[in-house]
Parts: sequence; structure tokens; C-alpha cells
Amino acid sequence: MRKALKSIVLLLSIGLLLSFNSNDPKKIKVVIDAGHGGTDFGGMHSGLNEKDLTLSIINKIKALHNSENVELFFTRNNDELISLSDRVQKINEIKPDLVISLHVNNNKNPESNGVEVYVPKDLAHTVKSEELANKFLGLLVDKTSLMSRGVKTAPFLILKKSNCPTILAEVGFMSNYSDRKIITSDENQNRVAQAVIEFISQIE
Ligand SMILES: [Zn+2]
Repeated sequence: MRKALKSIVLLLSIGLLLSFNSNDPKKIKVVIDAGHGGTDFGGMHSGLNEKDLTLSIINKIKALHNSENVELFFTRNNDELISLSDRVQKINEIKPDLVISLHVNNNKNPESNGVEVYVPKDLAHTVKSEELANKFLGLLVDKTSLMSRGVKTAPFLILKKSNCPTILAEVGFMSNYSDRKIITSDENQNRVAQAVIEFISQIE
């Protein structure tokens, strides 16, 4: 009986060791950052809040994610206020391969429309961020009917302070009638989520 118990313990230990060893060190880590949250509503238009749209999109990303090669992290999972510096701190603790920050644009001019992707300026990972931003923008435009406004640089804190390739996408304008119809529909939010899933599956 004791022998049997010893064998079981031994087998369990081996199993545990193997499971540690099978942790693939090459697993790609991606942080998805849903812009705003809590008392920070982000853009507001026609009864819409940017914070709700970004949360809704990341929930769709979570539902679609099934890649074993990519580990996803989220800076927020609920309608909660998390400061930009706390987001950056969390990102730099995780040490991801990529950060994707998701936002929805808002403008006084209702004609402004389309999707734009921002990258950091003059950093070690600027070129890599640009390359990734162009890929992501292409996928977003392909999947949704949003117009491309191109890849741009901006001094956003999350771009400046994250120690890895980082891109920030403004996925349409809530202040534009046709963009608003796109970005508020479940189907199109799913397409944005699919663009993210397809994009991260291509990262090496
Ligand atoms: Zn925003």
C-alpha cells in the first residue's frame, strides 16, 4: 500500500515537472489595452461612451481567442478606472512582445471618419511598431468597411513608456454617422476582434 502511494507521488511529481517543462518559452505575450474605463469615459457622442465600446471589443477578442501560441493579457477587464501610468507599469511588468491599445475616435467635425493607428516616435521599437501597425491597419480595413487614415505617430503615454512594440488604434469615429453605425454593431465589433485575432496569430 505504501509502495503504491510512493509510486503515485512519484508519478505526480514527474507529471508536474513535465508540465513545467512543456511551458513553451516562445509563447508570444500580447497585452490588449481597452482605452479608458470607470470615471474616464473617453469620447462621448450620441449617448455612446468610448469606454463601453472598447470593453465590448475586448470581450469579443477574449471569446474568439484560442491560440496556444499567444498568451493574452488585458490592462482592464471591467468598467474600472486604471490610470495610464498603472497601465504602463502593468505592461512593463508583463514584458510582452506587443501592446495593442484600442480606442474609438471623436471629433467636432462629423465628416471625420476612418481608422488610424498610432506608433511611438524615435524609440528603439518604433520601426517594429510601424511595421506591425501597417499590418494591423490593413486587416482592420479589410475586415470592416472603415476607411484607412494611415499610420501616425503621437506622444501618447502608453506609446512612449511601454518598453516593447506598441500600437494604438482609433477604430472609427463615434462622431461620424456611418462609422458610428459600424462601430456600434455587434457584427462589426466582432470583425474588429477578428482582425486582432488574425493579426496576433501572424506575430513572430
Ligand atoms: Zn480614447
